[in-house]
Amino acid sequence: MSVARAYERLCAELAGPVRRDEPMARHTTFRIGGPADLFIQADCVSDLSALSRILGEDHIEWTVLGKGSNLLVSDEGYRGAVVVLGRDFRRHSIVDSYLHSGAAVALATLVQDAFSAGMSGLEFAVGIPGTVGGALAMNAGSRDEWIGGVVESVTLFVPGQGLRAIRGHEVPWGYRRTDLASRGIIVETVLRLAEGDAGRIRRAMEASLSRRKRSQPLGLPNAGSVFVNPEGDSAGRLIEAAGLKGARQGGAQVSDVHANFIVNSSGATARDVAMLMKRLRDAIRDQYGIELTPEVRFLGSFDAA
Ligand SMILES: Cc1cc2nc3c(=O)[nH]c(=O)nc-3n(C[C@H](O)[C@H](O)[C@H](O)COP(=O)(O)OP(=O)(O)OC[C@H]3O[C@@H](n4cnc5c(N)ncnc54)[C@H](O)[C@@H]3O)c2cc1C
Repeated sequence: MSVARAYERLCAELAGPVRRDEPMARHTTFRIGGPADLFIQADCVSDLSALSRILGEDHIEWTVLGKGSNLLVSDEGYRGAVVVLGRDFRRHSIVDSYLHSGAAVALATLVQDAFSAGMSGLEFAVGIPGTVGGALAMNAGSRDEWIGGVVESVTLFVPGQGLRAIRGHEVPWGYRRTDLASRGIIVETVLRLAEGDAGRIRRAMEASLSRRKRSQPLGLPNAGSVFVNPEGDSAGRLIEAAGLKGARQGGAQVSDVHANFIVNSSGATARDVAMLMKRLRDAIRDQYGIELTPEVRFLGSFDAA
């Protein structure tokens, strides 16, 4: 593996910018994370072909990132390449009742597009940060409604094969779960909307936003819910019942607004967050016999926590 050689080749072949030793704290909503060896913006499909070939030949591990709003990156960073999508993946338009979008578009932009066009279907997504690609990979939404429910099709880039379109109904959508990211890089989607009443759409969005403002610690860096809600219960309720709301580990704290959120209250490290998560999981297992599953994704090494 030669990062230096791969860097030279990537710079020579790609349209998008390539950086070395990029601090991942700049690319996560937690504001936490050490450097990635390589940070690559793919501006077009041929960039994806070139980077997957070069990184493969140089035996460099890589991953795709959206806005890093569901991610904890190790303090030591990532010994590999982080790929983000640029230029060609930022296009979006509504044709008839279908919203076509590149994976790099902010989900909030699509929510606004739909609202402006008087189309219903994305009200549940108001206030969810991140990109369309991240939302599809995570099947973002609420407990009852998620983006998978409105997906007509998804286009993936599969290294060595190229673009591959999948119908929405062929994807196994589950609560905060899909297999899309394991099948390729999500580059584009078509969402199915329906004509709606503008007043009703606005009221649904406003109600959802004010619920978020009341129940989420929006003033401090965080990555949303850290655990998936267990069947028939809520992770926040369990953590609060275990007396751990407000618990601290270094600069990380269980939010006192919502116990399923961990906030970076003052210079938290990834290790602080990971240790606090472990403490919460241990406590819930010991007290209730319930195994909490992380919703937050991890990047880099977390052996110590
Ligand atoms: C304040 C706050 C509130 C939140 N509220 C909600 C909520 O209500 N509901 C909810 O579901 N989530 C919520 N989240 C979590 C998060 O915003 C979502 O999971 C979001 O969809 C992640 O998008 P992202 O672009 O930031 O993805 P990232 O965090 O960058 O990535 C998440 C995962 O998706 C993969 N991925 C990203 N892009 C691609 C791609 N193009 N192809 C393949 N894989 C990809 C990454 O490898 C990673 O595994 C919240 C987060 C915050 C900070």
